[in-house]
Amino acid sequence: RPRVLSGIQPTSDSFHLGNYVGAVRQWVDLQRDHQPFFFIADMHALTVEWDPKLLRERTLRGAAQLIAAGVDPAKSAIFVQSHVPAHAQLAWVLNGLTGFGEARRMTQFKDKSAKGGEGAASVGLFAYPVLMAADILLYRPHYVPVGEDQRQHLELTRDLAQRFNSRFKKTFRLPEPYILKATAKLYDLQDPTRKMSKSSSAPSGIIEMLDDPKVTAKKIRSAVTDSGTEIRFDQEEKPGVSNLLTIYSALTGEPISALEEQYAGKMYGDLKKDLADVVVDFVTPFRDRTLELLDDQDHLMQVLAKGAETAGAVAEATLRDVYQRVGFVAPA
Ligand code: ATP
Ligand code: MG
Repeated sequence: RPRVLSGIQPTSDSFHLGNYVGAVRQWVDLQRDHQPFFFIADMHALTVEWDPKLLRERTLRGAAQLIAAGVDPAKSAIFVQSHVPAHAQLAWVLNGLTGFGEARRMTQFKDKSAKGGEGAASVGLFAYPVLMAADILLYRPHYVPVGEDQRQHLELTRDLAQRFNSRFKKTFRLPEPYILKATAKLYDLQDPTRKMSKSSSAPSGIIEMLDDPKVTAKKIRSAVTDSGTEIRFDQEEKPGVSNLLTIYSALTGEPISALEEQYAGKMYGDLKKDLADVVVDFVTPFRDRTLELLDDQDHLMQVLAKGAETAGAVAEATLRDVYQRVGFVAPA
């Protein structure tokens, strides 16, 4: 069965709906006929400012949310990135193969460092895509299910894999992105030209899956809409309404064109009210299940230990090949 691998950062108390429809939902589907590795990217969380206590909490919450979303520990290796040291070890090797200019071109670095200026950003943020390449290449996966925002990083991963393979010996598989077009990207409710993001959206702009459903309903009702009154999908002219239609369609399975018909002649307020109901019905059971899982931390830790064992065996085998091929002397 083809391998897949993906990760999510513990950078907030809750996943947002963009994480779910853009990424995690695909993970659940892929379990059926793939061999999956899914991890909580706690090492990536150190690329922006962090609080140790929160990081610890959010890592466990992340794992619980994956399971609540339907990632099944019996089918998938669910693990914490820092439990498998090979991620950091391979990243260091790949740093030596990555051009400075190549890393600088990454748009996530530009976006995330925009606020404080490049000088205030950490080296970790700059090197983030290299660690991500290591995360992926260790498992030699066929596919990497991610949201559209990660496409550029995946391109770099492929470039690095190719470079390593041709410079040394064929070691890595070139992974394909697995990105579902229709729901590849959800936008911020308050600024629908920016992506919905855990670490950079204001609370009013993201739909957090673990929020009190009442708060979520209110956020949707106060989402920014566009001038005019017509409800139709038009990314350029109507980014706000288009985003609401995307979310609606993603959660109900109704095609956007059917929604446009259904809402012909209706008001933005009608769409928002109905969408609030759809989202609340969806997040309520998810939230209940997550809280239940967090109540039994022994069980959760066992799942993560088993995941790290499965993942570690694969990752270490790859790392051994890499170390040998780059010229490291094996310890006696
Ligand atoms: P951060 O702001 O800390 O980077 P994030 O919201 O971008 O957080 P990540 O943990 O970086 O979330 O990404 C987890 C997964 O969710 C990735 O596969 C990413 O492509 C996907 N994703 C993130 N934001 C969106 C979005 N707005 N729409 C669709 N998919 C998204
Ligand atoms: Mg991100």
